[in-house]
Amino acid sequence: MTTAVFDAKPYDRDYLTAAVADRPVQLVFHEFRLTADTARMADGTRSVCAFVNDRLDRPCLATLAAGGVRHVALRCAGFNNVDLPAAREIGLAVTRVPAYSPYAVAEHTAALVLALNRRIHRAFNRVREQNFSLAGLVGFDMHGKTCGIVGTGRIGRVAAEIFRGFGMRVVAYDPLPLPEWALRHGVEYLPFDDVLAASDILSLHAPLTPETHHLIDAATVSRLKPGAIIVNTSRGKLIDTTAVIDALKHGHLGGLAIDVYEEEEGMFFEDLSDTVLQDDEFSRLLVFPNVLITAHQAFLTREALGEIARVTVENLVRGSRGEPFLPDTAL
Ligand code: NAD
Repeated sequence: MTTAVFDAKPYDRDYLTAAVADRPVQLVFHEFRLTADTARMADGTRSVCAFVNDRLDRPCLATLAAGGVRHVALRCAGFNNVDLPAAREIGLAVTRVPAYSPYAVAEHTAALVLALNRRIHRAFNRVREQNFSLAGLVGFDMHGKTCGIVGTGRIGRVAAEIFRGFGMRVVAYDPLPLPEWALRHGVEYLPFDDVLAASDILSLHAPLTPETHHLIDAATVSRLKPGAIIVNTSRGKLIDTTAVIDALKHGHLGGLAIDVYEEEEGMFFEDLSDTVLQDDEFSRLLVFPNVLITAHQAFLTREALGEIARVTVENLVRGSRGEPFLPDTAL
Protein backbone atom coordinates (compact mmCIF):
# COMPACT_ATOMS: atom_id res chain seq x y z
CA MET A 1 0.00 0.00 0.00
CA THR A 2 1.46 3.33 -1.08
CA THR A 3 1.10 6.66 0.69
CA ALA A 4 2.13 10.02 -0.74
CA VAL A 5 3.68 12.18 1.99
CA PHE A 6 3.46 15.92 1.25
CA ASP A 7 5.53 18.82 2.64
CA ALA A 8 8.03 16.17 3.74
CA LYS A 9 11.11 17.44 5.59
CA PRO A 10 14.19 15.41 6.56
CA TYR A 11 12.84 14.76 10.07
CA ASP A 12 9.50 13.55 8.59
CA ARG A 13 11.37 11.05 6.40
CA ASP A 14 13.47 9.82 9.33
CA TYR A 15 10.65 9.33 11.83
CA LEU A 16 8.02 8.02 9.39
CA THR A 17 10.47 5.60 7.78
CA ALA A 18 11.49 4.29 11.22
CA ALA A 19 7.84 3.87 12.23
CA VAL A 20 7.05 1.88 9.06
CA ALA A 21 9.86 -0.64 9.73
CA ASP A 22 8.51 -3.87 8.19
CA ARG A 23 4.85 -2.83 8.10
CA PRO A 24 3.04 -3.02 4.75
CA VAL A 25 3.26 0.70 3.91
CA GLN A 26 5.33 2.25 1.16
CA LEU A 27 5.99 5.95 1.57
CA VAL A 28 6.61 8.29 -1.37
CA PHE A 29 7.95 11.62 -0.12
CA HIS A 30 7.20 14.95 -1.79
CA GLU A 31 8.89 18.10 -0.52
CA PHE A 32 6.19 20.42 -1.90
CA ARG A 33 2.90 21.15 -0.21
CA LEU A 34 -0.41 19.47 -1.00
CA THR A 35 -2.84 21.83 -2.74
CA ALA A 36 -5.36 21.48 -5.56
CA ASP A 37 -2.44 22.06 -7.96
CA THR A 38 -0.23 19.28 -6.59
CA ALA A 39 -2.93 16.74 -5.63
CA ARG A 40 -2.45 14.78 -8.88
CA MET A 41 0.95 13.69 -7.58
CA ALA A 42 -0.99 11.29 -5.35
CA ASP A 43 -2.71 9.58 -8.30
CA GLY A 44 -2.66 5.82 -7.83
CA THR A 45 -1.93 5.93 -4.09
CA ARG A 46 -4.49 4.81 -1.51
CA SER A 47 -3.66 7.48 1.04
CA VAL A 48 -1.90 10.78 1.54
CA CYS A 49 -0.09 12.10 4.58
CA ALA A 50 -0.41 15.89 5.05
CA PHE A 51 0.74 18.60 7.44
CA VAL A 52 -0.45 21.96 8.81
CA ASN A 53 0.16 24.17 5.79
CA ASP A 54 -1.11 21.77 3.13
CA ARG A 55 -4.39 23.14 1.78
CA LEU A 56 -7.03 20.41 1.63
CA ASP A 57 -9.92 22.41 0.22
CA ARG A 58 -12.74 20.93 -1.84
CA PRO A 59 -10.92 21.02 -5.23
CA CYS A 60 -7.86 19.37 -3.66
CA LEU A 61 -9.94 16.64 -1.98
CA ALA A 62 -11.92 16.01 -5.20
CA THR A 63 -8.68 15.60 -7.18
CA LEU A 64 -7.28 13.22 -4.57
CA ALA A 65 -10.44 11.09 -4.61
CA ALA A 66 -10.55 11.05 -8.42
CA GLY A 67 -6.99 9.71 -8.39
CA GLY A 68 -7.93 6.82 -6.09
CA VAL A 69 -7.08 8.23 -2.66
CA ARG A 70 -9.35 7.01 0.13
CA HIS A 71 -7.63 8.24 3.28
CA VAL A 72 -6.05 11.55 4.34
CA ALA A 73 -3.78 11.04 7.35
CA LEU A 74 -2.86 14.39 8.93
CA ARG A 75 0.39 14.18 10.86
CA CYS A 76 -0.68 17.01 13.17
CA ALA A 77 -3.40 17.85 15.69
CA GLY A 78 -5.00 20.91 14.07
CA PHE A 79 -7.33 20.27 11.12
CA ASN A 80 -8.47 23.80 10.21
CA ASN A 81 -6.80 23.34 6.80
CA VAL A 82 -9.18 20.53 5.76
CA ASP A 83 -12.69 21.06 4.36
CA LEU A 84 -14.22 18.26 6.46
CA PRO A 85 -17.80 18.52 5.11
CA ALA A 86 -16.37 18.21 1.58
CA ALA A 87 -14.24 15.21 2.62
CA ARG A 88 -17.32 13.48 4.05
CA GLU A 89 -19.35 14.21 0.92
CA ILE A 90 -16.59 12.93 -1.33
CA GLY A 91 -16.11 9.82 0.83
CA LEU A 92 -12.56 10.45 2.06
CA ALA A 93 -11.61 9.27 5.54
CA VAL A 94 -9.59 11.88 7.47
CA THR A 95 -7.50 11.10 10.52
CA ARG A 96 -5.17 13.21 12.65
CA VAL A 97 -2.85 12.81 15.61
CA PRO A 98 -4.80 14.55 18.36
CA ALA A 99 -2.35 14.29 21.24
CA TYR A 100 1.24 13.44 20.40
CA SER A 101 2.96 15.50 23.06
CA PRO A 102 1.25 18.42 24.74
CA TYR A 103 4.54 18.85 26.63
CA ALA A 104 6.43 19.70 23.43
CA VAL A 105 4.15 22.64 22.63
CA ALA A 106 3.61 23.81 26.22
CA GLU A 107 7.35 23.71 26.97
CA HIS A 108 8.08 25.71 23.81
CA THR A 109 5.49 28.25 24.98
CA ALA A 110 7.39 28.61 28.26
CA ALA A 111 10.68 28.87 26.35
CA LEU A 112 9.30 31.74 24.25
CA VAL A 113 7.98 33.58 27.30
CA LEU A 114 11.25 33.21 29.21
CA ALA A 115 13.34 34.27 26.22
CA LEU A 116 11.15 37.29 25.44
CA ASN A 117 10.84 38.44 29.04
CA ARG A 118 14.56 38.11 29.81
CA ARG A 119 15.62 39.34 26.34
CA ILE A 120 17.62 36.17 25.69
CA HIS A 121 17.35 36.70 21.90
CA ARG A 122 19.02 40.09 22.23
CA ALA A 123 21.55 39.02 24.89
CA PHE A 124 22.70 36.09 22.74
CA ASN A 125 23.52 38.39 19.82
CA ARG A 126 25.19 41.00 22.02
CA VAL A 127 27.53 38.56 23.72
CA ARG A 128 28.58 37.15 20.34
CA GLU A 129 29.54 40.74 19.39
CA GLN A 130 31.42 41.15 22.67
CA ASN A 131 28.84 43.71 23.71
CA PHE A 132 28.44 42.97 27.39
CA SER A 133 26.16 45.93 28.15
CA LEU A 134 22.92 45.10 29.97
CA ALA A 135 21.07 48.27 28.93
CA GLY A 136 17.61 47.43 27.57
CA LEU A 137 17.65 43.87 28.90
CA VAL A 138 15.50 44.44 32.02
CA GLY A 139 12.82 41.76 32.44
CA PHE A 140 10.31 41.03 35.19
CA ASP A 141 9.92 38.31 37.82
CA MET A 142 7.26 35.90 36.64
CA HIS A 143 6.70 34.80 40.24
CA GLY A 144 3.62 36.59 41.57
CA LYS A 145 2.46 37.81 38.13
CA THR A 146 -0.67 36.61 36.36
CA CYS A 147 -0.76 34.35 33.33
CA GLY A 148 -3.98 34.06 31.33
CA ILE A 149 -4.55 30.80 29.49
CA VAL A 150 -7.04 30.89 26.61
CA GLY A 151 -8.12 27.30 25.96
CA THR A 152 -7.50 24.67 28.62
CA GLY A 153 -7.32 21.67 26.30
CA ARG A 154 -4.41 19.25 26.26
CA ILE A 155 -1.72 21.87 25.64
CA GLY A 156 -3.28 24.74 27.58
CA ARG A 157 -3.51 22.60 30.72
CA VAL A 158 0.18 21.63 30.59
CA ALA A 159 1.11 25.28 29.96
CA ALA A 160 -1.02 26.35 32.94
CA GLU A 161 0.71 23.81 35.18
CA ILE A 162 4.15 25.00 34.01
CA PHE A 163 3.29 28.66 34.72
CA ARG A 164 1.93 27.65 38.14
CA GLY A 165 5.38 26.12 38.70
CA PHE A 166 6.89 29.59 38.31
CA GLY A 167 4.72 30.78 41.18
CA MET A 168 2.34 32.66 38.89
CA ARG A 169 -1.36 33.19 39.46
CA VAL A 170 -3.00 31.40 36.53
CA VAL A 171 -6.42 32.46 35.25
CA ALA A 172 -8.11 30.77 32.32
CA TYR A 173 -10.95 31.00 29.86
CA ASP A 174 -12.47 28.05 28.05
CA PRO A 175 -16.10 27.66 26.89
CA LEU A 176 -15.85 24.09 28.26
CA PRO A 177 -14.14 24.58 31.63
CA LEU A 178 -12.73 21.71 33.70
CA PRO A 179 -13.48 22.73 37.30
CA GLU A 180 -11.90 19.65 38.94
CA TRP A 181 -8.61 20.09 37.07
CA ALA A 182 -8.64 23.82 37.90
CA LEU A 183 -9.18 23.16 41.58
CA ARG A 184 -6.39 20.56 41.66
CA HIS A 185 -3.90 22.95 40.05
CA GLY A 186 -4.98 26.24 41.60
CA VAL A 187 -6.22 27.70 38.30
CA GLU A 188 -9.15 30.16 38.30
CA TYR A 189 -11.62 30.22 35.41
CA LEU A 190 -12.79 33.74 34.54
CA PRO A 191 -14.85 35.26 31.71
CA PHE A 192 -12.69 36.02 28.66
CA ASP A 193 -12.66 39.80 29.23
CA ASP A 194 -11.58 39.33 32.85
CA VAL A 195 -8.72 37.07 31.73
CA LEU A 196 -7.59 39.82 29.34
CA ALA A 197 -7.75 42.47 32.08
CA ALA A 198 -5.88 40.33 34.64
CA SER A 199 -3.03 38.95 32.51
CA ASP A 200 0.61 40.04 32.53
CA ILE A 201 1.19 37.18 30.09
CA LEU A 202 -1.61 35.95 27.81
CA SER A 203 -1.05 32.51 26.31
CA LEU A 204 -3.26 31.27 23.46
CA HIS A 205 -4.10 27.55 23.22
CA ALA A 206 -7.46 27.50 21.41
CA PRO A 207 -8.12 25.80 18.06
CA LEU A 208 -8.71 27.92 14.96
CA THR A 209 -12.46 28.05 14.33
CA PRO A 210 -14.77 30.77 12.95
CA GLU A 211 -15.28 31.87 16.60
CA THR A 212 -11.57 32.12 17.42
CA HIS A 213 -10.48 33.78 14.14
CA HIS A 214 -8.94 37.16 15.18
CA LEU A 215 -9.79 36.47 18.82
CA ILE A 216 -7.02 38.99 19.47
CA ASP A 217 -7.95 42.13 17.55
CA ALA A 218 -7.87 45.88 18.24
CA ALA A 219 -10.76 45.63 20.72
CA THR A 220 -9.40 42.69 22.74
CA VAL A 221 -5.81 44.02 22.71
CA SER A 222 -7.08 47.30 24.17
CA ARG A 223 -8.53 45.38 27.14
CA LEU A 224 -5.11 43.95 28.05
CA LYS A 225 -3.06 45.54 30.83
CA PRO A 226 -0.56 48.06 29.44
CA GLY A 227 2.74 46.24 28.96
CA ALA A 228 1.21 42.74 28.83
CA ILE A 229 2.88 40.06 26.70
CA ILE A 230 1.04 37.78 24.27
CA VAL A 231 2.37 34.33 23.39
CA ASN A 232 0.76 32.29 20.63
CA THR A 233 1.72 28.70 19.86
CA SER A 234 -1.75 27.70 18.64
CA ARG A 235 -2.72 29.01 15.19
CA GLY A 236 -1.64 32.28 13.55
CA LYS A 237 -5.10 33.42 12.55
CA LEU A 238 -6.14 33.76 16.19
CA ILE A 239 -4.30 37.09 16.05
CA ASP A 240 -5.12 40.09 13.85
CA THR A 241 -1.53 40.99 12.97
CA THR A 242 -2.37 44.58 11.95
CA ALA A 243 -3.98 45.29 15.33
CA VAL A 244 -1.09 43.75 17.25
CA ILE A 245 1.53 45.73 15.28
CA ASP A 246 -0.39 48.89 16.09
CA ALA A 247 -0.48 48.02 19.82
CA LEU A 248 3.26 47.25 19.77
CA LYS A 249 4.03 50.57 18.02
CA HIS A 250 2.05 52.50 20.62
CA GLY A 251 3.66 50.60 23.47
CA HIS A 252 0.37 49.26 24.85
CA LEU A 253 1.48 45.72 24.14
CA GLY A 254 4.70 44.94 25.99
CA GLY A 255 5.82 42.06 23.78
CA LEU A 256 4.78 39.33 21.39
CA ALA A 257 6.14 35.80 21.13
CA ILE A 258 4.72 33.70 18.30
CA ASP A 259 5.40 30.27 16.89
CA VAL A 260 2.59 30.66 14.36
CA TYR A 261 1.71 33.51 12.01
CA GLU A 262 -1.47 34.51 10.22
CA GLU A 263 0.11 34.25 6.76
CA GLU A 264 2.67 31.51 7.47
CA GLU A 265 1.40 29.23 4.70
CA GLY A 266 4.01 29.01 1.96
CA MET A 267 6.62 30.69 4.18
CA PHE A 268 7.20 28.67 7.35
CA PHE A 269 9.07 25.35 6.97
CA GLU A 270 10.92 26.70 3.90
CA ASP A 271 14.43 28.13 3.54
CA LEU A 272 13.68 31.48 1.92
CA SER A 273 16.97 33.09 2.96
CA ASP A 274 17.89 33.82 -0.67
CA THR A 275 14.61 35.52 -1.54
CA VAL A 276 13.13 38.98 -0.92
CA LEU A 277 10.51 38.82 1.83
CA GLN A 278 7.17 39.87 0.33
CA ASP A 279 5.12 40.05 3.54
CA ASP A 280 5.35 43.64 4.84
CA GLU A 281 3.62 42.92 8.15
CA PHE A 282 5.97 40.05 8.88
CA SER A 283 8.93 42.32 8.02
CA ARG A 284 7.58 44.90 10.48
CA LEU A 285 7.31 42.27 13.21
CA LEU A 286 10.92 41.22 12.64
CA VAL A 287 12.30 44.66 13.57
CA PHE A 288 10.57 45.08 16.94
CA PRO A 289 13.06 44.38 19.73
CA ASN A 290 10.19 42.96 21.81
CA VAL A 291 8.91 40.46 19.25
CA LEU A 292 10.22 36.91 19.16
CA ILE A 293 9.25 34.55 16.35
CA THR A 294 9.88 30.87 15.78
CA ALA A 295 8.61 29.19 12.61
CA HIS A 296 6.04 26.65 13.86
CA GLN A 297 8.50 24.47 15.71
CA ALA A 298 6.70 24.01 19.03
CA PHE A 299 5.88 20.38 18.12
CA LEU A 300 9.46 19.58 17.14
CA THR A 301 10.75 17.21 19.81
CA ARG A 302 11.98 13.65 19.38
CA GLU A 303 9.11 12.36 21.50
CA ALA A 304 6.46 14.23 19.51
CA LEU A 305 7.87 13.21 16.11
CA GLY A 306 8.08 9.57 17.23
CA GLU A 307 4.48 9.54 18.44
CA ILE A 308 3.18 11.40 15.37
CA ALA A 309 4.88 8.82 13.13
CA ARG A 310 3.66 5.83 15.19
CA VAL A 311 0.00 6.94 15.15
CA THR A 312 0.09 7.99 11.49
CA VAL A 313 1.59 4.70 10.28
CA GLU A 314 -0.77 2.63 12.45
CA ASN A 315 -3.76 4.45 10.94
CA LEU A 316 -2.39 4.04 7.40
CA VAL A 317 -2.14 0.29 7.96
CA ARG A 318 -5.60 0.08 9.56
CA GLY A 319 -7.11 2.18 6.76
CA SER A 320 -5.66 -0.10 4.09
CA ARG A 321 -7.15 -3.15 5.83
CA GLY A 322 -10.55 -1.52 6.32
CA GLU A 323 -10.09 -1.75 10.13
CA PRO A 324 -11.28 0.96 12.55
CA PHE A 325 -8.75 3.75 13.10
CA LEU A 326 -7.09 4.34 16.47
CA PRO A 327 -9.54 5.82 19.00
CA ASP A 328 -10.18 9.60 18.74
CA THR A 329 -8.10 10.00 15.57
CA ALA A 330 -10.87 9.92 12.94
CA LEU A 331 -12.45 13.28 12.06
P1 NAD B 1 -7.50 20.73 22.37
O1 NAD B 1 -8.59 20.44 21.41
O2 NAD B 1 -7.05 19.67 23.31
O3 NAD B 1 -7.92 22.00 23.27
C1 NAD B 1 -8.44 23.17 22.73
C2 NAD B 1 -9.26 23.86 23.84
O4 NAD B 1 -9.67 25.14 23.38
C3 NAD B 1 -10.52 23.09 24.24
O5 NAD B 1 -10.57 22.92 25.65
C4 NAD B 1 -11.65 23.98 23.74
O6 NAD B 1 -12.81 23.92 24.55
C5 NAD B 1 -10.98 25.34 23.83
N1 NAD B 1 -11.65 26.38 23.05
C6 NAD B 1 -12.45 26.26 21.97
N2 NAD B 1 -12.91 27.48 21.60
C7 NAD B 1 -12.37 28.37 22.46
C8 NAD B 1 -12.47 29.78 22.60
N3 NAD B 1 -13.24 30.53 21.78
N4 NAD B 1 -11.80 30.38 23.60
C9 NAD B 1 -11.05 29.66 24.45
N5 NAD B 1 -10.91 28.31 24.37
C10 NAD B 1 -11.56 27.69 23.38
O7 NAD B 1 -6.30 21.30 21.50
P2 NAD B 1 -4.72 21.24 21.84
O8 NAD B 1 -4.17 19.94 21.38
O9 NAD B 1 -4.51 21.68 23.25
O10 NAD B 1 -4.18 22.36 20.82
C11 NAD B 1 -4.27 23.74 21.15
C12 NAD B 1 -3.80 24.56 19.94
O11 NAD B 1 -2.43 24.29 19.67
C13 NAD B 1 -4.54 24.28 18.63
O12 NAD B 1 -4.75 25.52 17.97
C14 NAD B 1 -3.56 23.46 17.83
O13 NAD B 1 -3.79 23.59 16.44
C15 NAD B 1 -2.26 24.09 18.27
N6 NAD B 1 -1.04 23.29 18.08
C16 NAD B 1 0.12 23.94 17.70
C17 NAD B 1 1.29 23.22 17.55
C18 NAD B 1 2.59 23.89 17.17
O14 NAD B 1 3.54 23.20 16.76
N7 NAD B 1 2.71 25.20 17.29
C19 NAD B 1 1.29 21.84 17.75
C20 NAD B 1 0.10 21.21 18.15
C21 NAD B 1 -1.07 21.95 18.31
